[in-house]
Amino acid sequence: MFLVTPGDELNTQPRQHEHSHDHEHEHKEELGLKPMNCPGHCLVFDQMHPSYKDLPIRLADFSPLHRNEKTGALTGLTRVRRFSQDDGHIFCTPEQISAEIDNVIDMLHHIYTTLGFTYQVLLSTRPDKFMGDIETWNQAEKALADCLEKRGINYQINAGDGAFYGPKIDVILSDVLNRKHQCATIQLDFQLPRRFNLKYVDSDGQEKTPVIIHRAILGSVERMFAILIEHTAGKWPFWISPRQCKAHFHITMQD
Ligand SMILES: [Zn+2]
Repeated sequence: MFLVTPGDELNTQPRQHEHSHDHEHEHKEELGLKPMNCPGHCLVFDQMHPSYKDLPIRLADFSPLHRNEKTGALTGLTRVRRFSQDDGHIFCTPEQISAEIDNVIDMLHHIYTTLGFTYQVLLSTRPDKFMGDIETWNQAEKALADCLEKRGINYQINAGDGAFYGPKIDVILSDVLNRKHQCATIQLDFQLPRRFNLKYVDSDGQEKTPVIIHRAILGSVERMFAILIEHTAGKWPFWISPRQCKAHFHITMQD
């Protein structure tokens, strides 16, 4: 998280009323610019103290995210410093992974075909630097591969390109000019729940650690809009166009 401390000018405001001391105190607080939603969703989950009956818990968030991209890397809407993701985190039991990934793939297929994109699927596996034990990684990679195979989805293995905390399914969409864009991602994470010490009470009364599935379908909404503008050459599908129709009237004046 980037910390932001207000400048001195805020702390030297003249006192306006008897509660001004409290305001001064507020101004000295450190505020944060959020770069990602995952930790916040873990805290929300932790407040819930759920049992296995409450799982899966699916949290979604479109709130603004911030990345300190280098000036030279900023490009139109495709790479910006403040953006929104259609970001979701699914907290589930290991047995629920398959069904949840299936749901996400359904949603992804529905959205991409509705927007008129074709796509290609990559299964990114354990990188050189990884957290956790190899046994868990193998199980997780197999769980993702099984989901794809069960649905008859062709995929390529992207060896060593998984996140450090778990394997992932990346989806590369092709636009009308056949350019490739990586947008959707489905990531299995066994590590973050442990680091946040997240627990649910299982049917045997024991506390167990859930699994997190990070998922985004559009990815950055701003970036998706940029791709969609180019893909449609500015002629948006009727249902998404901010101006769905335009009427021209030609009035001829006669004597
Ligand atoms: Zn996440």
